[in-house]
Amino acid sequence: MTEQLYFDDPLTLDFTAEVTQVLALPDGRFGAVLPRTYFYPTSGGQEHDTGSLGPARVVDVVKRDGGILHVLDREIDPGPHPARIDGARRFRHMQHHTGQHILSAAFIEVLGINSLSANINGDTPSTIDLDAGQASITGAVSGSDLNRVETFANGILFEDRRVSSYYVSDAEVPTIPFRKPPKVSGRIRVVEVDGFDVTPCGGTHCLSTGMVGVLKIVRTERVNQKLRIHFVAGAQALDFFQRVQAAAQGAAVRLDSSLDGVVENVERLQSQLKQANFDLENLREIALEAEAGELAGAADVIGTRRLVTARFEGRDPAELRTLAQKLRNRAGTVSLLAAFDGRKLSLVAACADDTGLDARDLLQKHLAPLGGRGGGEAALAQGGGPADGRALETLFDNTKGYLEG
Ligand SMILES: [Zn+2]
Repeated sequence: MTEQLYFDDPLTLDFTAEVTQVLALPDGRFGAVLPRTYFYPTSGGQEHDTGSLGPARVVDVVKRDGGILHVLDREIDPGPHPARIDGARRFRHMQHHTGQHILSAAFIEVLGINSLSANINGDTPSTIDLDAGQASITGAVSGSDLNRVETFANGILFEDRRVSSYYVSDAEVPTIPFRKPPKVSGRIRVVEVDGFDVTPCGGTHCLSTGMVGVLKIVRTERVNQKLRIHFVAGAQALDFFQRVQAAAQGAAVRLDSSLDGVVENVERLQSQLKQANFDLENLREIALEAEAGELAGAADVIGTRRLVTARFEGRDPAELRTLAQKLRNRAGTVSLLAAFDGRKLSLVAACADDTGLDARDLLQKHLAPLGGRGGGEAALAQGGGPADGRALETLFDNTKGYLEG
């Protein structure tokens, strides 16, 4: 057994550790055994502490064989060592864990919804899982309900109520007004927020609710039959506010807007962009129609057919296809349009119905010498392949012959 000193004193971060045993672990790391420790092991939904033990980093702390194992990044000798717990990480866990008790109790107090479980994180938002069946038929809680819960919970923080911990026996359990019954038996640790919440818990907590600072629900998520509440508290809440404020302020400056006007201004811009894209699409259509007319006007007349050939540099193949479609609608017109992006050739062939020609054959005739591939239908076929400038120069050379033959 390891004596867990953090239970009664969560603020001590520096101490002299008496290392009685150092184990070589299967993963190449080392595990230190202490008869007494302030290091918190991962348990009860709260992550472990980190820190140092002599020259070694404490990278993990786990419960093992009824004791606590301090996982080290290097081997140390047994004996006394100066130990230090990473204070910022511990304090974030304390703030989040205390915040979780208060938020869970606030959901019951304000909405009558019980929490099922919780997960405490120092770096990412912590979570509380609510019974979705209780939350509502759809498992959702409205934004205004969340605001009410959040405001109530923060009220408890602002009142700076005392948070105490003590132990009770199984026999005393029925006399304690627990929010949730204990899952363990024997000597049960109780964490009490003065006059508000009593719960069995083995985590590290603030000594008063004021130490939590502030608490903010950041999002909700449906997970099977649960409604997961993501929240931040204390130092992490400050990080969150700073990031959100920087993002919102950055957007406001770029929009030449007040902070409160950002959403309205973004909506206005979205609407303008939608209209501009619509207008652009129309103009593009008109331009392509005019271009098709010009190309058709410059076609080579071969018997009853008209041959359009054109080469473009770096033109979008999709636009090339639209252009070919427009030419395809003109009687007697056979079109062969090429686009070259410096490395690759894109080719579109189009044959009006009355030409009696198959665009796939025309495409294949030009792509085969280049080792390219393509396909489509008799009226319009599209493909491409590797090409160089020389291949481009001779690309259309034999097209007339093909049409004449
Ligand atoms: Zn707790």
